[in-house]
Amino acid sequence: MKRNRFQEIDRVIRTHIEKRGLEGISSGSALEQAVDSLAGSERVIIVTGFLVQACMIGETDGPIGALSLSHALERMGRETMILTDSFSLEMLKRGAKILGLKARIEAIPLEETDAYLERQLMKFSPSHIVAIERPGSAEDGRCYSMNGEDLSHWIPSADHLFESGKAMGIETIAVGDGGNELGMGGYRDYIHRSVANGRKIASRTGADHLIVAGVSNWGAHGLAAAMSLQAERMLMYPADTETDLLSAIVASGAVDGVTKRTERSVDGYSEEENLGIYKKLLKIVVGE
Ligand code: MG
Ligand code: MG
Repeated sequence: MKRNRFQEIDRVIRTHIEKRGLEGISSGSALEQAVDSLAGSERVIIVTGFLVQACMIGETDGPIGALSLSHALERMGRETMILTDSFSLEMLKRGAKILGLKARIEAIPLEETDAYLERQLMKFSPSHIVAIERPGSAEDGRCYSMNGEDLSHWIPSADHLFESGKAMGIETIAVGDGGNELGMGGYRDYIHRSVANGRKIASRTGADHLIVAGVSNWGAHGLAAAMSLQAERMLMYPADTETDLLSAIVASGAVDGVTKRTERSVDGYSEEENLGIYKKLLKIVVGE
């Protein structure tokens, strides 16, 4: 019964997945495994934020998902920390205020990045690290947009979090929708073949559990929904709050990563469509 509802969640978050060429990555039991793993979490680092170079600000996909997951984890009594870069910092802080999150939110510096990330791992001592729509380093060590723009001049690579985290025995989870996000490295051969610019942009670093979604925010909401099912209590915020969050992050400058405009949409999908996905997930959790 619960397994069927996990599969329903998976179907919802994979809406439009074929548009990015990722439908060949089967979801299997990744969602269930990720949620089982998070049930044993204590402290969770969430890393997000994707620069849109044409606008020099972060996109609407990623931060909302990170806030949604942080909220669900805090409701379960877990401690979270959100890491991003300077381009998405303000929108995350503003969103966190709406949700009343306790999470510390910091920007990863562009200089001495790995040393900074190492310090966070030592200080925060996470049990889990979750990447949600965070640029991942490609084979050549650079971070690319879906169109193949080199973002490494502007943004720090967060790959070291996963690399060092894995060596320390920390569980890693990733949510992605394009193949260029941190944590998708386990599927890079497939991404080379099936995603536009795949050979250039594919992430080289994999995750223990990978959630592939039509839009990364939906994947993160799917985690919050599946966690709710597993914990048998609602860990998602109400649908109205999703609207408030999108308004707030757009008011802080966030742009749609596809249209590159300051508008209340995500990856080219309207506010209504995004809200529709969120409401579907809420319904699955309450069993309607
Ligand atoms: Mg993406
Ligand atoms: Mg996206």
